[in-house]
Amino acid sequence: MTHSTPAIVILGQGSLATARRIQQVYPAALIHGLAGRVEGADRTYPEFGATLRELYQQDTPIIALCAAGIVIRTLAALLLEKGAEPPVLAVAEDGSAVVPLLGGLGGVNVMAREIASGLQVAAAITTSGELRFGTCLLNPPSGYALGDLELGKRFVSDLLAGHSVRIEGAAPWLEQAQLVEDPLAQRSIHVGSNAREASANELVIYPRSVAVAIGAAAADLPSTVCAALQQANVAVQALACLVAPDTEMANPVLHEAAVALGVPLRFVAPASDIGALARSAVPEATIIATTNNVAVAVTEQPLDLTQVGRPRGRLAVIGLGPGAAELMVPAVKAELARATDVLGYETYVRMAGPFRADQVLHCTDNREEMQRARHAFELAARGRSVIVVSSGDPGVFAMAAAVLEALHESSDPAWHTVELEILPGVSASLATAAQAGAPLGHDFCVMSLSDNLKPWSIIEKRLDLAAEADLALAFYNPISRSRPWQLGRALEIVAQHRKPETPVVLGRDIGRPGQTLRTTTLGALTPDQVDMRTMVLVGSSTTCAFPRAEGGDWVYTPRWYGEKPAS
Ligand code: SAH
Repeated sequence: MTHSTPAIVILGQGSLATARRIQQVYPAALIHGLAGRVEGADRTYPEFGATLRELYQQDTPIIALCAAGIVIRTLAALLLEKGAEPPVLAVAEDGSAVVPLLGGLGGVNVMAREIASGLQVAAAITTSGELRFGTCLLNPPSGYALGDLELGKRFVSDLLAGHSVRIEGAAPWLEQAQLVEDPLAQRSIHVGSNAREASANELVIYPRSVAVAIGAAAADLPSTVCAALQQANVAVQALACLVAPDTEMANPVLHEAAVALGVPLRFVAPASDIGALARSAVPEATIIATTNNVAVAVTEQPLDLTQVGRPRGRLAVIGLGPGAAELMVPAVKAELARATDVLGYETYVRMAGPFRADQVLHCTDNREEMQRARHAFELAARGRSVIVVSSGDPGVFAMAAAVLEALHESSDPAWHTVELEILPGVSASLATAAQAGAPLGHDFCVMSLSDNLKPWSIIEKRLDLAAEADLALAFYNPISRSRPWQLGRALEIVAQHRKPETPVVLGRDIGRPGQTLRTTTLGALTPDQVDMRTMVLVGSSTTCAFPRAEGGDWVYTPRWYGEKPAS
């Protein structure tokens, strides 16, 4: 198994130089620095323990630049649980020692050697099999799967005890290994896709070299696939992917089956029969049609999945939150990691980064919303994994509605079979409200004061009715150079229904560098205190403010209305 992109975690500024040297070994890896302690990391995190555990549980390889003991203590509770075990390494902050700690079967020793060679030191390898053979026999490279781990462990101890071994089949990665080979040896390493009986004298490694083509998805697909493999005498571990006609792309039964079997799905154009379907996906394969709906395509070498049909495209419209990394939801972080293409207004794309060199950025002007939405579908329909970036929440005066409108207007079936998901974010009104206290603690009304996409008359009408209804108000897009007078007019309308003492909260660049939060009143508020990066929250008749110990005010709107309930 090859590892996915590691996270380099540092606790202090003194580790940054070593972290950068490790990053040269893994250019896609991001350096995570402790907030307040490290300047210039790629990401900041608020708390070491929680961050390390989160990475571990997400199966992310961890390179921690700190004492091995700290890492062990931090992850100890998770080690008893069965689940992910990514490679975990401790590296001395001056780069003088590289210690693989966990994830022996996930390739931790390979990583330790790679990092050590980058830092020009020796890795602290302690695994006997590795030391003797120079490789972990139980951790074949990507494209291969180990038959049975427990039998494998015993097999490796036998070799360590001095037994010689034969190699059957193609195992190019073992050419460098220091094995005692003997063509007459009792013990063998067998590489092949056929199903084999488990045997203590044999280490079985399956190349993931088999695709199963499915004509039409039917109930209980995983059992159908397993039965077809069995009939073709192929081991289920050799399965590399499922292939289906692209007309079935959105069929949930297929996706559930792929998840159940733990393999990806690939799609090709519909074909005259199941054999032709399988052949068009894997032309070099031997095709064994088992029914007129299922065919098994077997090759010698592991399948290169980038060459098999195409995956279902994905389009995620994501909200970054106001700006601070801690306020970004984990689902959005995960989506950013899997994306191949990122679209959005340049400022937001930059806020969402840094990105890896293999991720394509498509920055556009903020006003080209529909064009951007259509471009996103064109890319996703080609099988890419596309992200459209918004700040805050994508459904609040942002890209989600434009993306849905583009889809609604389109009759292209390729657009409609794209896997579309909207991932929420913390909207500016909520981020600002939280910093001020709870000004939106009761019923409230959210409005954009921009008349670019709606007539000003409707804005006036809504303001008047919302103010009359005594709703607290949250104003997005309050003012801009091309809309200089609208905010003043809006405040006049609100003032007809609210007292001048009504609390107002102004949040500017909330969650971003240089953020400011101010509390004022409706009577004192003038449009020159507000710009297009400001969120304006106007209280209702029950909103109140009181001083807080740190300075400034707490502002809140009580949950009750009318008579205060007895408590
Ligand atoms: N989708 C975004 C809103 C986009 S409209 C969200 O959910 O937050 C843009 C307006 O949002 C700006 O004019 C400003 O009024 C407000 N805004 C966005 N980010 C902000 C921030 N970090 N601080 C204060 N206001 C912000």
